[in-house]
Amino acid sequence: MPYISLNPATNETLKTYMSWDRRHLAEALEQTYHAQPAWARLGFPRRAELMHRAASLLHERAAEYAILIAAEMGKPVREGRAEVEKCALACDYYAVHAEHFMQVERVQTGACKSYVSYEPLGVVLGVMPWNFPFFQVIRFAAPTLMAGNGCVLKHASNVPQCALALERLFQDAGFPPHLFSTLMIEPSEVGEAIASQHVHAVTLTGSERAGREIASHAGQHLKKCVMELGGSDAFIVLKDADLELAATFAVRSRFQNCGQSCIAAKRIIPVADIADEFGSLFIKKTKELKMGDPLDEATQIGPMARLDLRENLHQQVTDSIAQGAHAVLGCEPGEGAFYPPSILDDVTPGMRAYHEELFGPVAAVIRAADEEDAIRIANDTRFGLGSSIWSRDADHAEELAHRIQAGCSFINGMVRSDPRLPFGGTKDSGFGRELSYHGIREFVNVKTVWVR
Ligand code: NAP
Repeated sequence: MPYISLNPATNETLKTYMSWDRRHLAEALEQTYHAQPAWARLGFPRRAELMHRAASLLHERAAEYAILIAAEMGKPVREGRAEVEKCALACDYYAVHAEHFMQVERVQTGACKSYVSYEPLGVVLGVMPWNFPFFQVIRFAAPTLMAGNGCVLKHASNVPQCALALERLFQDAGFPPHLFSTLMIEPSEVGEAIASQHVHAVTLTGSERAGREIASHAGQHLKKCVMELGGSDAFIVLKDADLELAATFAVRSRFQNCGQSCIAAKRIIPVADIADEFGSLFIKKTKELKMGDPLDEATQIGPMARLDLRENLHQQVTDSIAQGAHAVLGCEPGEGAFYPPSILDDVTPGMRAYHEELFGPVAAVIRAADEEDAIRIANDTRFGLGSSIWSRDADHAEELAHRIQAGCSFINGMVRSDPRLPFGGTKDSGFGRELSYHGIREFVNVKTVWVR
């Protein structure tokens, strides 16, 4: 099966690549396996130097990479440049902090000397999605490489040029040959890669379906795994919220990246007292979004990444309307992979929009009777990635945050990742953490050393 690079805005095929056979895969894994030990011995200062160089190249190439991202998955260039700049930030962050995060920890015992040492595991496989085709990869690779591991990447099949550009980025920054390799393989070959004696752990950012499959391969072969899966984040608006601010960020959080973000505000939950007023502001601000050519600097909403994703989303919308939801904005497909910013109101249990992740530009508004009801609704989901609460009483909102079953809760701010803070989910949103010192310690051997 070929890897097809196709522009979703124009439906033009840009490039095709044949996927690798098993022999090619085995050779690539072995090469990374052999490159890793020398890298682990190199020490932090030299590794940091190369990681800073990767960050500099990301800055230099931000515009070029943004155009590539726009061409392969339709992200507006303004957002693409911001994504690449964020990659540079993550590289610099781990270049500066990795040594400290991996420092040995002395522990007093009866021994003459005893301590905990964090040592690399070996080669880590990253299976990554197309929605942030650079950042998802760097979020896994920067800490994993700085810990002294090698990385092999199975990227999504619709962004092969981004995948190869990332491999080239590390080569151009001076990383040892084969230490970071892009594997052009099918999902059906991922199990074989996990089984390989040359791979020691796996991390997936992607759907629940892929998560169940990959975690079961990891379980079968007793390899460490991290799962960053889907989400349906609650965005709770309490009656004392700054409604103007909440509506502005509801629009940004729900519709950035054409709604194709795991931590988008997918379930907007206003309490009854302010639901109508908030709803009017939310509709008004959503209408102002400009949909168009992702290469145009003014564009805020590009096409969805693939036509099949647009079709699935519209099916979820039409089913939800048939189940009683009210289409208050959009909800009719545009040309090709384009789908306009859309809002479904009066979403209730039993509707697809209530229970499923809407991975595109459609907001589900679920009205809550009051604050208690809003918390109940927020937790009435199999997902547990992010959440936000909007209220002028930040202390009270903070108390409520502890009752939400999710990997993070933001008060009066939209959920976003930050290299300094851990990122990950609970429930069907997965397990394990990326970023911060938690992220770099996922793929290490936590080793006890004891000396009499
Ligand atoms: P996806 O279909 O699961 O694809 C993600 C990656 O997994 C791709 O490289 C894909 O390869 C591969 N893959 C798919 N099925 C597989 C299988 N059975 N075995 C092995 N590999 C498999 O996900 P997506 O639709 O691209 O991405 C959207 C999902 O990712 C959403 O649910 C979103 O919420 C989630 N996501 C989560 C986070 C997070 O941090 N928690 C971040 C971003 C996205 P192919 O492309 O070749 O199929």
